Amino acid sequence: MTFTNQLFINGQWVAPVRGGSFDTIDPANETAIAQVAAATAEDVDRAVQAARNAFDHGGWPELSGKARAGYLRRIASLIRDRQQTLAELEVRDNGKPLPEALWDIGDTAYCFDFYADLAEQLDAQQEKAVALSDERFSSVARKEPVGVCGAIIPWNFPMLMAAWKVAPALAAGCTVVLKPSEVTPLTALQLADIAREAELPPGVLNVITGFGADAGSPLTEHPDVDKLAFTGSVPTGRKIMQAAAAEIKNVSLELGGKSAFIIFDDSDIEKAVEWILFGIFWNKGEVCSATSRVLVQRNLYDALLARLVEEAERIRIGNGMADGVLLGPLVNAAQYEKVQTAIARGIEQGATLLSGGKRPNGHDKGYFLQPTIFTDVSEESDIWREEIFGPVVCVRAFDDEAEAVASANRSRFGLAAAVMSPDLARAERVARRLRAGIVWINCSQPTFTEAPWGGYKQSGIGRELGEWGLNNYLETKQITRYDSDEPWGWYIK
Ligand code: NAD
Repeated sequence: MTFTNQLFINGQWVAPVRGGSFDTIDPANETAIAQVAAATAEDVDRAVQAARNAFDHGGWPELSGKARAGYLRRIASLIRDRQQTLAELEVRDNGKPLPEALWDIGDTAYCFDFYADLAEQLDAQQEKAVALSDERFSSVARKEPVGVCGAIIPWNFPMLMAAWKVAPALAAGCTVVLKPSEVTPLTALQLADIAREAELPPGVLNVITGFGADAGSPLTEHPDVDKLAFTGSVPTGRKIMQAAAAEIKNVSLELGGKSAFIIFDDSDIEKAVEWILFGIFWNKGEVCSATSRVLVQRNLYDALLARLVEEAERIRIGNGMADGVLLGPLVNAAQYEKVQTAIARGIEQGATLLSGGKRPNGHDKGYFLQPTIFTDVSEESDIWREEIFGPVVCVRAFDDEAEAVASANRSRFGLAAAVMSPDLARAERVARRLRAGIVWINCSQPTFTEAPWGGYKQSGIGRELGEWGLNNYLETKQITRYDSDEPWGWYIK
């Protein structure tokens, strides 16, 4: 690995002012794979100044959308050139299986291409005439970049989460200071190197690695940052919003979830089992939108559970680099412990551990956990209410539609939900009653760059992806002109 132990500021690799560093760990074998620079407030200040300067004096916001699109397309193409290397790095840093990592990196490149298209379209949307009720005036509306953005991201989809913020921000004409999670910093450093190779002007993208308290927090408090874009947990989201309040910074938050999946009894069992598995065991369940609460209509309940356990126990667990593995290790020791504590609490609160819940045989090292299925889960229990962020699913039975919808909606989260039934009229009706920003019908999790992403309630504020993602980084300005030759005649008659 190159570029570690350094930060990417103003187009250059620089050592952190205080010289600190930390190890990043391969969760499959608990060994250090790289040393990474630990940024502090001094480095954050340098990075923000570089971004400020690039925004105020570097000409980036004044470039046409078409010109910015050229940079984004070069970045996309370089990501594709390095797809295998980047995916392998993601596996070693995060633990996810290689096919999933390859998929993530493909999506990352696509995200840059997608926002290149939107940057181009932005040019045509400028100077939109606004019809006024007074003919003596004319007015146009413009979209202008918000300014310097502090982007803070989590560890579950490291490079993709970076792209979801960096691509639309750059497309809009913003400049960015990106702080990846201290748990998975490696692909963000690669993104910095790609930006350098794409000849992105200095200061337009800066990447600082480091911890939440030492690097993240000073970024949220910096007076020269205009916007904070955050993805992560609710407690940190609350701190980000508090920091933003001090300067009334623009803020968007993508937070946690505890998404429900309603399965009606006319569903095909095999399809239901496949999508339940994908909804919770893909990416080890470390997915904000994971459908971790499954509600199955009573007639189907027993038969479905039997098949679910059978298939869950067949999932191949192991190092994400090994062939055929579909469940890698959890991301780190802290997350491993958090998930195990949640499982113990579930048992303590009376739920039945139907399958999994333990370290799999033959994996003495690494943060491996069996796919875990709970039944007899009370709606009041912690495992039903709190985000676990691991391969743990809770299943409950329901009798009728109204009960299922009410149960699904009884949550302080509202990121995603899913419903399965071949009766599309029913599925569509239920989809409209679910209080969540993302609702899947007859599937769970497929995510498209074109469609809006974000949550209701404590799952966040604002939407990423699609045109909504671009709007996150744009201000709207009106320019109104007095066209009449007549004097205004208020003070001077
Ligand atoms: P986290 O909140 O612990 O950390 C996220 C980021 O915030 C990290 O980069 C961290 O260093 C930084 N941070 C921590 N304290 C900070 C502070 N005081 N000031 C500024 N920055 C600080 O979350 P995590 O454990 O990395 O990620 C898991 C969480 O992310 C889950 O709750 C999950 O649901 C959520 N998530 C949400 C989405 C979504 O789209 N809604 C997507 C992925 C993950």
